[in-house]
Amino acid sequence: MIQKVEMYQAVCDRCGRPCAEISGIVAWKTPEFARIAALESGWISINSGLYCPDCVEYDEETDSYKPKDKIRNEQIGHTESLAGKERGKVQE
Ligand SMILES: [Zn+2]
Repeated sequence: MIQKVEMYQAVCDRCGRPCAEISGIVAWKTPEFARIAALESGWISINSGLYCPDCVEYDEETDSYKPKDKIRNEQIGHTESLAGKERGKVQE
């Protein structure tokens, strides 16, 4: 028979990306297993949050990782990716 089960997966508190993209495993039986797997995949735990490697930066002042600034980085990333695509089209 087929039975519905409750599973858990780590999701980045900043970008919302699930950890499955890195580990290849979509879900775990307990929240703690999901958390451990994420940390083993290079994710960072800050306070009570979990962040993928793309969403943290090293803070030399505190000698620890911190989440990137949400608004500023999204704006910069969006602008850079658009500019890159447009440059690529011109060169082709
Ligand atoms: Zn992220």
